[in-house]
Amino acid sequence: MPHDDHQIPPTDRTLRVKALESLLVEKGLVDPAALDVLIDTYEHKIGPRNGARVVARAWVDAAYKERLLRDATAAIAELGYGGSQGEDMVVVENTPEIHNLVVCTLCSCYPWPVLGLPPVWYKSAPYRSRAVIDPRGVLREFGLELADDVEVRVWDSTAEVRYLVLPERPAGSERLNEEQLAAVITRDSMIGVAKVKLP
Ligand code: FE
Repeated sequence: MPHDDHQIPPTDRTLRVKALESLLVEKGLVDPAALDVLIDTYEHKIGPRNGARVVARAWVDAAYKERLLRDATAAIAELGYGGSQGEDMVVVENTPEIHNLVVCTLCSCYPWPVLGLPPVWYKSAPYRSRAVIDPRGVLREFGLELADDVEVRVWDSTAEVRYLVLPERPAGSERLNEEQLAAVITRDSMIGVAKVKLP
């Protein structure tokens, strides 16, 4: 079943949103800078915090991790997250041997309930095409150099299935509790363009 985001030209909805934004700014009803702050908050702060809680739980609770890898939608719902754009979730686990990367080659399908709004680069044509053709090159541009013997798996999101990467728990994080772990887990690590590092 197709969904609205699966149209290549700007959708009617996108154009309407743009028109509305222009009008609000023109009338002086909203400050474009304030809008940027609001979007940034959903992109970086509120949205991905849900995914970070899912990952942190999986790191500290082996039984939860097993459920998450078996039926991600249900395991994510255990923590209270779900709904639109997250009805059919699949979680893929990074290991020292396997690195997973998520893309939507058609448009910008993204697991909203756990990651919030997709970043601009995720929706860009170069990322969408190159993530499949040259994933190692893309990762290098994000500052992530993978050893040759690491297998890279690229997951193409669809209207139905949305992917979340379960990143590797960083070495040296043994003493952190679940909440402290969640605080170091980044959005990019759950898309698969970064690893989780301790600050
Ligand atoms: Fe899509």
